[in-house]
Amino acid sequence: MKKSAESDPWAMGLTMRALVLVAVFAALLVPAGLVPIVAVATGTEGVAEPGGSLVVIPLSTATPVATPVTEFTPTPTVPRVGIIAGHTGSDSGAVCDDGLQEVTINTDVARQVVTMLTARGWLVTQLEEFDSRLTGYQADALVSIHADSCTLVDRSGFKVARAELSSIPDAEDRLIGCLSRLYAERTGLPFDPFTITYDMRRYHALYEIDPNTPAAIIEIGFMSGDRELLTERSEIVARGIADGLVCFIEGESR
Ligand SMILES: [Zn+2]
Repeated sequence: MKKSAESDPWAMGLTMRALVLVAVFAALLVPAGLVPIVAVATGTEGVAEPGGSLVVIPLSTATPVATPVTEFTPTPTVPRVGIIAGHTGSDSGAVCDDGLQEVTINTDVARQVVTMLTARGWLVTQLEEFDSRLTGYQADALVSIHADSCTLVDRSGFKVARAELSSIPDAEDRLIGCLSRLYAERTGLPFDPFTITYDMRRYHALYEIDPNTPAAIIEIGFMSGDRELLTERSEIVARGIADGLVCFIEGESR
């Protein structure tokens, strides 16, 4: 019976020497670029030879150059806010004995807030009391502007409230905090928590808008005790609301 190569020590030794020589040969010549690396085709990379399963990856191929890192510049987002001029398009709101109407004050203040924030580059929408756009309204903030009646003689003060059943209480509390602080600073009016009514917390617009839009209703003062501020210095009133929104959207430092 003929001995197989595997069982012949001489044949085995020769085979091992040949393998070692091939290994040394390859180790010296491949790095020098004199012998191409031959790889088994595994996919779409490299050049498939017609009818063959091997792909030759030539060492002369230029090393891929790293794509230059493009500096990431975030697109500046333009704040979007909605301002409801209370009672517009609907009714007069509170009316004093001398005929002064709440809707007149609200409209004047809302218009100035819109002008101030538009000048800042924001997208500002002035909305009516029962504006059809309020349904599902999406924005960075929504503020509805109202004034208190003449019923309480010489009463002074403002208040801000959010929806009683808020989906985003943290954001809306921050909005209320900014509006309250900046409005008090600009106008000098005291915050009057005692006359926040059920109607304010259940204010219709707060429940019509998208639940993720932070919203608040502000009663900017009493048409009785704060009349001079509301009618003669309304730009200060508007500034307080505008700055409160800037505080909420651009940062607490303002
Ligand atoms: Zn009102």
